[in-house]
Parts: sequence; C-alpha cells; structure tokens
Amino acid sequence: MSSRRLLATCRVLLPSVLFSGALCLTGIPSFHAQSSRASTPPVSIARAAEDLRSQLIAWRRDFHRHPELSNREERTSRVIAEHLRAMGLDEVKTGVAKHGIVALLKGAKPGPVVAIRADMDALPIEETIDVPYKSQHPGVKHACGHDVHMTVALGVAQLLSSQRELIHGTIKFLFQPAEEGAPEGEEGGAALMIKEGALDNPRPQAIFGLHTNPSIEVGQIGIHSGPAMAASDSFLITIRGKKVHGAQPHQGVDAVVVAAECVTALQTLRSRRIDATQPLVLSIGTIHGGNRFNIIADEVLLEGTVRTLSEEVRSRIPQLMRETLGGVTAAYGASYDIDYVRRTAITFNDPKLVEETLPVMQQVLGTSNVVSLSPFMVSEDFSYYQQVIPGFFYFLGVGSRAKGITAMWHTPEFDVDEECLVVGVKVITNVVLNYLERHSALR
Ligand SMILES: [Zn+2]
Ligand SMILES: [Zn+2]
Repeated sequence: MSSRRLLATCRVLLPSVLFSGALCLTGIPSFHAQSSRASTPPVSIARAAEDLRSQLIAWRRDFHRHPELSNREERTSRVIAEHLRAMGLDEVKTGVAKHGIVALLKGAKPGPVVAIRADMDALPIEETIDVPYKSQHPGVKHACGHDVHMTVALGVAQLLSSQRELIHGTIKFLFQPAEEGAPEGEEGGAALMIKEGALDNPRPQAIFGLHTNPSIEVGQIGIHSGPAMAASDSFLITIRGKKVHGAQPHQGVDAVVVAAECVTALQTLRSRRIDATQPLVLSIGTIHGGNRFNIIADEVLLEGTVRTLSEEVRSRIPQLMRETLGGVTAAYGASYDIDYVRRTAITFNDPKLVEETLPVMQQVLGTSNVVSLSPFMVSEDFSYYQQVIPGFFYFLGVGSRAKGITAMWHTPEFDVDEECLVVGVKVITNVVLNYLERHSALR
C-alpha cells in the first residue's frame, strides 16, 4: 500500500473529533513479507475462529454483565480458570497478582515460548446504553473493552487446545488484573504480575497484547512501531506561603497567587524547555488551597500528570519542574515541595517484532485493513512486560459507524461491534503460531 492511500484511509478512520491530534504516520514502513511467511494456512484458523463466534459472544456478554473493579476480579478469575481447565490447558495457575491467572498451552512440536496478555478489570462507570448484555453491577462497567481482551485470549486457548499440532512450542496466557490501576494503598497490575513470576518458568521470548479501539472500524487493526503509548507520571506540588487577613495581603505570602504563577510557568516546559518535536503533556488536574474567603491561603496543593514518549525527555522533567517552581516561589517569598512519582512506562513496540509480525496481520486481514497510527499520550501497563521482553501491543477495531458504535473508552456509552471477537481471535492466533514456527526454525 502506498503511504498516500494509507493516509487517506487513516483520515477516514481517525477523525480529529475522536482523536484530537492523532494523525497518521507517513505510512507503514516497507516490511519484508517473505521473512514471515506462514506455513499454517490462515484459512483453517479463520474457519475455526468463525466456528467459535457464538461461544465468543456468549463469553464476552457474560464478562460484560458481571464487571469487576481493579483487584476485585474474583468472579471473572474463577470463570476464566474454569474455562481454561475445561479446555485441558497444561497449567492453570490462579491467584497471581491477586486474581490473575497464568496458563500454559504446550504444542505438539518443540519450540520457544510466547505470551498473550489480556487484562480483566472494569471501571467505576454506570452503563447507560440499553443492550441485552447490560452490566448487572450498578456503577461498574467494562468501559475499556477488557471483556473483549479476555474473550479473545480465551478464544485462542479454545481454538488451539484442540489443534496442538499447529503449535511449535508453548503459549503462555497472562490474564492480568488491575490494568486501570490498583486501589490506593494496594499493589497490582502488570508490575505485580511480573513481581510474582508471571514471566518466569518458563520465560516467554516475546509478548503480544491488544486493545479495543472504537475509532477503528471492526475488521481492521491499528499498529505502531516503536513508541505507541506514553509514559505516565504523576506529581503533587505543595506551595507554602504565610496566612494573614485577606485585607492585608502584604503582611503574608499568598500561596494562591504563587500557585497560579506556577501553573502558568510550568507550561513553558512544553513550549520553551523541551524540543518542540518531542511529545510532552504536563497537565494540572487538581488545585486545592485556602479555607475562607477573607483569609490569605498559606498552602495550595497542585496535582497533575506528565506524559512523554521518550525516556530522555521523561527523565529531564522532574529537574526542570524543580527549577521552575524554585524560581517562581522564591520570587514571592514562598516555598514548595514536589513529590514526583514515575508510574507507567512507555509502551514501546519492538520494531523488529513489529516488522516480522506485520506481514502476518496483513495476510489475515488484507493490507488495507492494517493501519498505522500516531502514538497516544494515554498509557498502558502492558509497557511493564516490554521492559523485560520484546512486546507488540496493537489496536483492534471495534467501532461501527453503520451501527452507531462510536463512543470512546471510559464513557457510559462505550460498546463494541461483537464482530471484533472473531477478527481478534483470527489475528492473534495467526500471529503467535507464526511467531513460534518462525522462531522454532531459528533455534
Ligand atoms: Zn481503560
Ligand atoms: Zn484498557
């Protein structure tokens, strides 16, 4: 596909109203299809995936009706473990990172280990759409599509557990809780999965994961090579002044005025301190200070987030923030503290893994249905696995303009076109089979 045609496709797919600032890359690089030729005919996988359609829809609807919040995925975990055991997987380890599951499916042929990750948690959002599979838990909804991710991974396990002769090596399934973030004071998510050995015994040599994307039409997938999603850090700034009567501000130090200056000055990191070609978002999300209309506040708290797509920029930000805050507060006789927390890492798709995987995806869906995306400044804890082993995280189209399915993630109206389930299973089954076959030959 030419890059011009790709750009045109992407503009149709990614209207600025949905993805403000998201523009297509100049095109998918010229990958070498011959390096990834699969001897497993995608057509047989496609047929097997089609045969699973009603089962996939039933699983997804069951998960959707029973959403559970981060680190509370008890039922979800129980149901998945039951399904995996019924399929006869070789190992189904539960209780990893609280309600996570690590399962192994060993192939009939020797080869390496590859992992598939699916996240399990829902969000504290009330479902407002009237669908037959509406959430039965008030105030909780699978509004990020993790019900789809679990269903696709289960579909792969179901399909391949009865066709082990196709597998050169072992597939490791990671069902991960708390991707949206563990409750305050709790550990969770990918970091805890890794800490509790999810990538050990055996260690996969690559990991694949997917995320729903309502901006992409069902039947298509979106990919990035290199940085795909941002690192997400957070900070809490405390501005300290001196409390006095609101009518006599000259006798004190007004923390509100100083905080206002700090909010503005911090934006110059983006505009004046970091190379304009390097993505950076610095957002102040909350501001709290003062206790009465006629008292000068002696303390203001500012909370915010920093998003970056390169480690070089990311590592510079805390010092630049300190320089700015130090200068501004000193000018007014105030002082400050900052608690800067590095959180989720950059989701970085290993370029070599993308390059060798892309032809398989194009073969399964058709070249025009694999579209190149610009990076997102939202984050994903899939990135933690990618810090240990090469990984490829891509986007599964779940939208349908024709059916009116366009609501974005984390909204009360979020929904998916369930045709995405068969597509999802087809793509990732071929991807992992092809990976194992190719790398078993290289051993
Ligand atoms: Zn989410
Ligand atoms: Zn998500």
